[in-house]
Amino acid sequence: EKIELNAFCGQSISSFSAIHNRDFQFYPMKERPMVWANREGLKQILFILLDNAQKYSKEHIEVTVGSEGPSATITIRDHGEGIPEKDLSHVTERFYRVDKARNRETGGNGLGLSIAQQMIQNMNGNMRIHSKEGEGTTVTLLLKKAVEGGIEERV
Ligand code: ATP
Repeated sequence: EKIELNAFCGQSISSFSAIHNRDFQFYPMKERPMVWANREGLKQILFILLDNAQKYSKEHIEVTVGSEGPSATITIRDHGEGIPEKDLSHVTERFYRVDKARNRETGGNGLGLSIAQQMIQNMNGNMRIHSKEGEGTTVTLLLKKAVEGGIEERV
């Protein structure tokens, strides 16, 4: 279905923060970017990423809706512990966790990111992860825009 990302992200963030009692800074885009995606699936992806951000960061978390060429983007940025460079290419593997000792208190199976990556790719989208140990992590979701008044490509 067609999804307007500003409203969609705003709603997802408020239901997530109501459950987890955590605040997010939300920056919608001036335009209203529309994408073709599966609403429930996209919400699940967003919840995985918001959950990671709040698990691995005690600092503020920013969610931004944006645009990058033909894609609309959702960016989740935290200022937490970050991911060491040697682990970065592995975190989307199933059951991969950075450091058992470090992660003992946060729990988890190491499945979240692999599921999120698989799901966004199934929607013909993509996921990019940037991270610096000790500084924080930025995850960007990219989804092709559904062009108004043009040729709409269904995903
Ligand atoms: P779960 O299966 O419950 O999501 P998980 O959080 O361990 O458990 P993933 O979401 O796949 O699993 O993340 C894999 C690993 O990547 C995590 O164990 C953690 O070490 C690291 N990681 C993921 N997101 C972040 C983040 N925002 N900041 C720092 N490290 C992260």
